[in-house]
Amino acid sequence: MFDDKLKEECGVFGVYNNNEFDTSRLTYYGLFALQHRGQESAGIAVNNKGTILYRKEMGMVSEIFDDVVLDYLKGHSAIGHVRYSTTGESYAENAQPLVIKYTKGHMAIAHNGNITNAGKIKKELEEQGTIFQTTSDTEVIAALLSRIRIKYSTIEDALREVMTIIKGAYSLLIMTPNKLIAARDPLGMRPLVIGKKEDSYVFSSESCAFDSLGIKFIRDVEPGEMIVVNNEGIKSIQTEVPKKSASCIFEYIYFARPDSIMDGIEVYSARYQAGIVLAKEHPVEADVVVGVPDSGLAAAHGFAHALGIKYVGGFMKNRYVGRTFIQPSQEMRELGVHMKLNPIRSQIEGKRVVMIDDSLVRGTTSKKIVNLLKAAGAKEVHVRISSPPVKHSCYFGIDTPERKNLIAGNMSIDGIKDLIGADSLGYISNEGLLSTCKDGKRDYCMACFNGKYPMDVDDEEEK
Ligand code: AMP
Repeated sequence: MFDDKLKEECGVFGVYNNNEFDTSRLTYYGLFALQHRGQESAGIAVNNKGTILYRKEMGMVSEIFDDVVLDYLKGHSAIGHVRYSTTGESYAENAQPLVIKYTKGHMAIAHNGNITNAGKIKKELEEQGTIFQTTSDTEVIAALLSRIRIKYSTIEDALREVMTIIKGAYSLLIMTPNKLIAARDPLGMRPLVIGKKEDSYVFSSESCAFDSLGIKFIRDVEPGEMIVVNNEGIKSIQTEVPKKSASCIFEYIYFARPDSIMDGIEVYSARYQAGIVLAKEHPVEADVVVGVPDSGLAAAHGFAHALGIKYVGGFMKNRYVGRTFIQPSQEMRELGVHMKLNPIRSQIEGKRVVMIDDSLVRGTTSKKIVNLLKAAGAKEVHVRISSPPVKHSCYFGIDTPERKNLIAGNMSIDGIKDLIGADSLGYISNEGLLSTCKDGKRDYCMACFNGKYPMDVDDEEEK
């Protein structure tokens, strides 16, 4: 396990164009569409005729970049990154892309995921004299790659070896003075797609960034695949044929945008289907169904449809408050929920309400919302959750707290029901959730629910 237990949720976007020199604007808009994947810092690096120029800062994409900055960031290729990590590790040095200079030249790296053996690799490199400036595992990849690169004539060959050493989840974009390289880990844990717009090749964490920018979706980058774009065109290198894939199912439940299609499955449809399955597994007599905005809405529609109960817009959401998890302390987190959501009394008062949310992690959100619904006059509040109980930490890039803070890791369902003040509580089953993604091309990592990690995670908590 990485010493600092750094957990990052991120999005990456990259463009390569032989003719056009203004790739940073497309990257800016791409990052804007991926903002939900990380609101803490953002950055863009461009390749300006062999020199890498970049700007990265704490803050949202629209706060960091303006026309002046984008005019400065001119280049034939660009990579960008949005990032959110847990409190404590949130400082500007960890912002990406990471730009490094080494014996073979320059490169910029943007990474989404978590390298589970980064701590071990870092220690070995430090013992050999490597100096690290950040606590980010991306720097470990960069250090390893630049060291291994010395013995190879191409960066692709060096990266191929690096991919046999690093373990965990990674969707990587690497920009050198003459190439743009995309790589996805052998299990395909985090998403990565490729598209085309005129003569630009584009990579993105999610396809939602393509739709609004007129970029044609080509396909997902395959697990274990490396794609290289340069002035000769595009080529695919399969680095290690995966015996199995383990795409993160939590991307479908919560993290990704509903309009994205990942590994053949539209996120909205998977969530809607989860609502239908949940209704079959935990039916209830009620007057109205409400969804917790935004990630609970699709499942709430599915649930209401399946049981023929009226769906109502139960909450007004203040769109200008960031995700509740961004608040550092528990007190701020609790305040944050009400600042963000307010029940619409006329839809709730005197009614038996089913409240659907996508997940219960610490239990903070549901407890607060059940309270708000009761205060707005709900006669009964039945909570239904469109993911199974989260019992285990994620080591692959989703920000779940340590096991001791996971409510379902420590309490029975009945105990949780009482704690959040619900009249009943039902979670979708593991099999039910899996059935919502059955038409996809992949197998899934469900370790946060079933504790079956697709690789060793070397954590005392889990032993
Ligand atoms: P909690 O309040 O700790 O039980 O967290 C559950 C709420 O947070 C749900 O409403 C989810 O939509 C949301 N959520 C779940 N996972 C995450 C995550 N990794 N980052 C931010 N928010 C999340």
